[in-house]
Amino acid sequence: MSVLVYTESEEGVIKKIALEAVSYAKGIADQMGTSVTAISINANNTSELAKYGASKVLEVSDDKLNKFNGEAYADAIAQAAKNEDAKVIVLTSSANSKFLAPTLAVDLNAGFVPNVVALPERTSPFKVKHSVFTNKAFAHTEIKTEVKIVGLGKNTFGLKESETSMSNEAFSPNLDAHDFDMEIVSVDKATDQVTIADAEIVVSAGRGLKGPENWGMIEDLANTLGAATACSKPVSDMGWRPHSEHVGQTGKPVASNLYIAIGISGAIQHLAGINSSKVKVVINNDPEAPFFKAADYGIVGDAFEIVPQLNEKLKAF
Ligand code: FAD
Repeated sequence: MSVLVYTESEEGVIKKIALEAVSYAKGIADQMGTSVTAISINANNTSELAKYGASKVLEVSDDKLNKFNGEAYADAIAQAAKNEDAKVIVLTSSANSKFLAPTLAVDLNAGFVPNVVALPERTSPFKVKHSVFTNKAFAHTEIKTEVKIVGLGKNTFGLKESETSMSNEAFSPNLDAHDFDMEIVSVDKATDQVTIADAEIVVSAGRGLKGPENWGMIEDLANTLGAATACSKPVSDMGWRPHSEHVGQTGKPVASNLYIAIGISGAIQHLAGINSSKVKVVINNDPEAPFFKAADYGIVGDAFEIVPQLNEKLKAF
């Protein structure tokens, strides 16, 4: 019996969220007195998994799986779970994991809880805390099925090193034609920049910027910090910025380590999307702006003066 973790990768490189999931799986395995088995699909840097506590990695290497395919990936993970007699399966909260989870849950007759934010409160019965209502509340849920699937919320557990001796095994799942009934034919990336979902730092701006011509200073600050750029809904509605940058209840959720909000009032629908970010910095010229109540650090002042100065100071580091 082991805890199985699916380690998502992109272009052969295991993602940071997957390493966080391995740390989390190790935490559960310690609670249950067992070990962590990882399953990777066409990934190159599997040796990294030992650093975060994996005892074994099942390496799937199959050209048919070069592109993400929900049915086929779920089938491969389900077969690995059965082979390993895994009773807990850890996924992330990425778009791909959200696609995989329901299929996997049906395949394994398992209960699934997404957006888990901490180690299980207890493992028998298995009870986890997870965020609900766009991160405005936490629920505590017992999973009563024999096999349990949890989706770890991004940046909620962190990377925890736990060097473990690890074995690598080639794993060839039996995939049939039905696994390939659907296929992603091509992907048009909205941008080559760091995506909002993957970014550690997000620099976001709102209607206070007055117009699209003023976004240069936002992009400069984002470049200095290696951050993704984002915006409020009206900004993308007016076409000042692409819709892919729209953050909030009706846009993308952000779970970055640092979220800098510039000229954004802090409406509840915007805050719903950024609640999971760790540190929030607000720059606004209205001291009564609601965003200050949700902020860890606030600067009251004109963005057009503050942002260039902040950028100059940061560049000097
Ligand atoms: P404003 O509310 O106009 O705020 C601009 C801010 O900039 C003000 O606080 C002002 O003090 C400040 N400012 C002005 N000039 C300067 C300056 N020179 N320097 C510094 N600060 C300055 N919104 C979202 O963002 N995401 C969503 O997903 C979303 N979903 C919605 C869903 C529904 C059903 C509804 C009804 C609304 C939704 N909204 C959403 C809209 C939301 O209610 C707000 O209207 C929106 O977030 C406001 O955008 P803003 O803060 O950019 O603009």
